[in-house]
Amino acid sequence: MGAVEKQQRTLATAGTWEYAPSIESREIVTFEDRYGLFIGGEEVAPRSRSWFTTVSPSTEEPLAEIAQAGPKDVARAVDAAREGFEAWSTWKPSERAKVLFRIARILQERARELAVAESLDGGKPIKESRDVDLPLAAAHFFYYAGWADKLEYAFPGRRPRPLGVAAQIVPWNFPLLMLAWKIAPALACGNTVVLKPAETTPLTALLFADVCRQAQVPPGVVNIVTGDGSTGAHLVRNGGVDKVAFTGSTEVGKAIQRELAGRDVPLTLELGGKAANIVFDDCALDQAVEGIVNGIYFNQGHVCCAGSRLLVQESIHDQLVRKLKRRMSTLRVGDPLDKNTDIGAINSKAQLDRIVELVESGTEEGAEVYQPPCRLPEKGWWFAPTIFTNVAQSHRIAQEEIFGPVLSVLTFRTPDEAVEKANNTMYGLSAGIWTEKGSRILWMADRLRAGVVWGNTFNRFDPASPFGGYKESGFGREGGRHGLEAYLRFE
Ligand code: NAD
Repeated sequence: MGAVEKQQRTLATAGTWEYAPSIESREIVTFEDRYGLFIGGEEVAPRSRSWFTTVSPSTEEPLAEIAQAGPKDVARAVDAAREGFEAWSTWKPSERAKVLFRIARILQERARELAVAESLDGGKPIKESRDVDLPLAAAHFFYYAGWADKLEYAFPGRRPRPLGVAAQIVPWNFPLLMLAWKIAPALACGNTVVLKPAETTPLTALLFADVCRQAQVPPGVVNIVTGDGSTGAHLVRNGGVDKVAFTGSTEVGKAIQRELAGRDVPLTLELGGKAANIVFDDCALDQAVEGIVNGIYFNQGHVCCAGSRLLVQESIHDQLVRKLKRRMSTLRVGDPLDKNTDIGAINSKAQLDRIVELVESGTEEGAEVYQPPCRLPEKGWWFAPTIFTNVAQSHRIAQEEIFGPVLSVLTFRTPDEAVEKANNTMYGLSAGIWTEKGSRILWMADRLRAGVVWGNTFNRFDPASPFGGYKESGFGREGGRHGLEAYLRFE
């Protein structure tokens, strides 16, 4: 054995390297003690006179007081958006494009501050908020800035027109990125918005209000109302909204659909998922292991398109699981602001309880659980990376969305069986295929009922590429030219 090979082997078996902590400075962001609502271009106190506290999930430390918007506050925001629409919709599209472009540039300039805020409020590792959430959020505004004055070309001969006031509700897993996915296309098409962030992660949306001021977004074009699910329900119920766009759980998505039944309000729903990550025996195995880890442990598994079901060809099951366990032992769980952290905090106590309950059901139903040894911080909400083997398709952990760092491993023998098992879910948001054969990727992609299918990669996002689901994962597409269509009517 040569010296280099010997050294590599030693490194490969050495487990986690010790790194000195490399903590991102939190001084870059200062939060107000209290945030009101952002309505008509100003911060206003809630008429509800009600407030709640947002905390950091990694320390349970209170970060700020947040307004809980009631029905009157929501109505006020919708009125402001209506007033804003009268002017904004008549702006020259190239002028609207400039505003979007300015937002994108400011997001880039303030990226570090916003990334730290996102990690503090949501618990995700700084390397993800810094390298994924923020660049992608800016990219969405750049991308849709480009479309704003080209709508006639996007839909030739169809005379596109804005819808009016868009009500937009987003979840807590990618707070600023989901905001960008919603606001950028809506504004590019000439609509105004009332956006409601999730109650556990309102801070980056409130900092975004300041970005809007800086970018000279006209009053009423972007309005932000904070609060829990009841605020979202008031927004959907408000008779002044012309469009509803929702990202969140399937359960709430269904409730919104029921609420809008009989009303002529277009709806897009981006809901849950239980994606199959399908690994064939001819794939580049080490590359697949990286894709599997990224697929399920990225953002603590709080990802609607997470590859939470690993379908592995039977002949390589043992070898793959061995490699995977070894790789899992090198994942660092801990302080989201440490640049070495791979897995941060679970977003809330409620989410942690849900993960624990589903993991317990997995062991009770007979699957075999594995977690690498790792020390979890005492304060805050944490869950170690987990895999289940010996999983049956009927197990809850193979059927229900766990939305945490938990992977269920199942096996298959033939491509047909892989397709059948992958499609055996009420969801249909995404899937991954790992194989050396391009023809097999195309063959599989044709048969998988999933809105996004990745080949030899996972969790790749691009503003130019549409994203959305089949079945109970929702309908409508965000991103790309398709993403414009949801915010337009045609004359
Ligand atoms: P959730 O449905 O509980 O909440 C999402 C948002 O809806 C929050 O802002 C919440 O306050 C609001 N809300 C709650 N009840 C409401 C009601 N009755 N009316 C209107 N709004 C209401 O979901 P969550 O726990 O915040 O997020 C996790 C879920 O989101 C997962 O199921 C995940 O798969 C899904 N998700 C999907 C996508 C996608 O693009 N498909 C992206 C991210 C998250």
